[in-house]
Amino acid sequence: MSSIEQRHHDLLADLQATAAGHGRPAPRLLAVSKRQPASAIAALHAAGQRAFGENYVQEAMAKHAELGGLDIEWHLIGHLQTNKAREAARHFDWVQSVDRQRLVDALARERTADQPPLNLLVQVNVDDENSKSGCTIDEAGDLCAAIAMHPNLALRGLMAIPAPHPDHELRRAAFRRMRELFDRLKVDHPGMDTLSLGMSEDAGLAIAEGSTMVRIGTALFGKRD
Ligand SMILES: *Cc1c(COP(=O)(O)O)cnc(C)c1O
Repeated sequence: MSSIEQRHHDLLADLQATAAGHGRPAPRLLAVSKRQPASAIAALHAAGQRAFGENYVQEAMAKHAELGGLDIEWHLIGHLQTNKAREAARHFDWVQSVDRQRLVDALARERTADQPPLNLLVQVNVDDENSKSGCTIDEAGDLCAAIAMHPNLALRGLMAIPAPHPDHELRRAAFRRMRELFDRLKVDHPGMDTLSLGMSEDAGLAIAEGSTMVRIGTALFGKRD
C-alpha cells in the first residue's frame, strides 16, 4: 500500500472505532483535497474514496477537467459568492456552504433540468464569529424552508465550523448545539440526513456529538503548501 492508501485505511478504521465507542454508526468521510494535486485525488479514488471536498470553484473545476473520467462526488465546502453560483450549480454534486436566501435562489436558477437535484447543506455560524460565513442558528429554519421549495435542490442537512477553541468542552458544546438544531429541523424536513461536523483536529469530538460526515484534509493528505 502507498502511504496515502495506508493513511486512508487507518483513518476509516479510526472513525469506525471512535463512532462505535459512542454507540454511533461511522460517519461518512469527505476527503478535503484543496491545494492538493489531482494525482493525490486519483490515488485516493483508487483506494475506494469517492467523496471529495474543495473550497474554491476555479481550483475544483481544473481538477474536474483533469479527472473527468472518474466517478467522484464533488462537494463545495468553501464560501460561495453569488456570481460563482452558475459554475457551482453545474459542476458540484453538493454545496455545503449555503448561508443566504440569494444564494439558494441563484443555485436553483442555475441547476439544469437534466441534472439530479443539487444536494445542499445550510452552513451555520455556530459560535457567532464575525469572521466566519454561515447563517445564525435562528436563520437556519427559514433557509431550510427556502431550499425545500425548489424541486431541483435537495435539502440534506447542516454544516458548521466551530471556533478552534483550545477548551475541548467548548468545542464539543458547539457540536452539541448543531446536533440539537439538526434534530429540531428534521421534524419539518425528514429528508435531512447529513450533519457535516469535524475536521482533522476535532473529528473525535464531532463524532461524539453525532456527526454523520467528517471533512478531513491534513490527516489524510498531509500538510497543505
Ligand atoms: C480545509 C477545510 C477542512 C479540512 O481541514 P483539515 O484541518 O485539513 O482537516 C474541512 N472543512 C472546511 C470547511 C475546510 O475549509
